[in-house]
Amino acid sequence: MPTPAKLPVKVESVIRHTDSVKTFILQPLKPCPRFKPGQFLHFALETYDPGGFWPESRVFSIANSPTRRGSLRITFAVKGKFTRRMYEEVKAGDTRWVKLPYGSFFFPDEAPEVVLVAGGTGITPFLSYLEHALDTGSKSRISLIYGVRSPEYFLFGPFLEECRRGLAGFRSRVFVEDGRPAGEGIEVTKGIISLDEMLKRPAGKAEALYFLSGPLAMIRGLRKILLEAGIAAEAIRVDEWE
Ligand SMILES: Cc1cc2nc3c(=O)[nH]c(=O)nc-3n(C[C@H](O)[C@H](O)[C@H](O)COP(=O)(O)OP(=O)(O)OC[C@H]3O[C@@H](n4cnc5c(N)ncnc54)[C@H](O)[C@@H]3O)c2cc1C
Repeated sequence: MPTPAKLPVKVESVIRHTDSVKTFILQPLKPCPRFKPGQFLHFALETYDPGGFWPESRVFSIANSPTRRGSLRITFAVKGKFTRRMYEEVKAGDTRWVKLPYGSFFFPDEAPEVVLVAGGTGITPFLSYLEHALDTGSKSRISLIYGVRSPEYFLFGPFLEECRRGLAGFRSRVFVEDGRPAGEGIEVTKGIISLDEMLKRPAGKAEALYFLSGPLAMIRGLRKILLEAGIAAEAIRVDEWE
């Protein structure tokens, strides 16, 4: 695993999704180390002085594939003071600092069946994995189960469409708590994420690997359901954000 590196990045663009969620596209101003889908970076607001300490930072999953590391992407939701400052202060053209890679939420290079379960912005490590799968022509059967509070938080419709077109084994299921439509051609199930349908299928169940990412309460609840359904603990991987 490469040693983490500290790099200045130019903020190429800032995408505002909602009044609390934004994406930053960041261009590394020094060579970006290799990373794996599922890993995260530290984002700092203040300038790093190489002779001094690393400034206060927070961690965010890298939302792009390592095959496209000329440009780094993070998507975040405002939670406390730091992410509020990120939302309000960071502008296109700024130079900020990141350090990466960190984390051991890894995906297999190839697996017969992969089930990705994301709540809200918890989808970010899966975006990296899916983009990587597109770039490397993955043959895995990949199911994405994605739950959001309301349609404004359903962020990556066009990318999921690209996955449907480019990945033979890809399918997705979208849950919207309030049941409102999430976009043209997107089938929505009202309510919170349910794994019932996934677990009903006899085929594949034994060999599937389950990846859970999102709020702690969601992860703990879904992990319990998977274990009760007889899924082996080793087949369940979690990316806890708290
Ligand atoms: C592996 C991982 C990946 C993540 N990926 C994403 C992502 O892609 N998108 C996303 O929206 N969120 C992600 N998160 C969550 C994100 O890191 C938190 O939402 C963010 O830290 C909230 O920061 P805040 O200061 O605004 O909130 P706060 O609630 O104020 O702080 C959050 C936590 O930061 C720590 N903290 C507080 N003060 C300091 C300080 N001075 N120095 C250092 N740490 C401090 C504390 O542990 C605190 O509980 C991820 C978290 C993890 C662990």
